[in-house]
Amino acid sequence: MSDRASTTAGRVLVSDFDGTMTRRDFFQLVFERLLPPGTPDYWGDYLAGRITHFEALRSIFGSVTAGEAALIEVVRSMGLDPDLKSEVEALRADGWRVVVASAGCDWYIRRLLAEADVSPEVHANPGRIEGGRLVMELPVNSRFYSRETGIDKVGVVRAALAEAGTVAFAGDGRPDLAPALLVPSELRFARGVLAEELTRLGEGFRPFERWAEVSRALHRPS
Ligand SMILES: [Mg+2]
Repeated sequence: MSDRASTTAGRVLVSDFDGTMTRRDFFQLVFERLLPPGTPDYWGDYLAGRITHFEALRSIFGSVTAGEAALIEVVRSMGLDPDLKSEVEALRADGWRVVVASAGCDWYIRRLLAEADVSPEVHANPGRIEGGRLVMELPVNSRFYSRETGIDKVGVVRAALAEAGTVAFAGDGRPDLAPALLVPSELRFARGVLAEELTRLGEGFRPFERWAEVSRALHRPS
């Protein structure tokens, strides 16, 4: 039993959500499908350094006037890995704890995870629907609070490293670069822009297309 407890505490997989546990980003789908014409270029403002990443996402989400049903439709088309539940269970059985770290909004993350009947630890920006609009707030009470992204993924990985002997990381975006570099390359899983950035820097990683490939590479084959 003590063995079990120590292995459970000993291995943590920190995972991004959008584009990592899902095929598509909520943000990207909102951009493509729901942004009303004439919406200011919040993403451009962020890229130019005029507003934070969090402010850009909050403004983009808050610009959608299509209503809750349309937002839920977008959430459903993100393509959560269909094997998430069985894979999280297989990881747990092998002593791994899964921690989700996202600069996105917990409104859609918790919704998708609940539908899949999975309940990992989640660090994301709190959100709710108010008057048909998605309202996202800074996680001011989180121990991983960051003004820039809401959730500080580097902080999440550092905390995992302080608590556990073995920490893996999986992600797909530019904000995943700094946290990914904190773990050893054999436990660093990347796709998309993150894979491109790591390649550019000459840093090692393990490529993946879907989340189940990450989990299967970590837990013992059953
Ligand atoms: Mg992502």
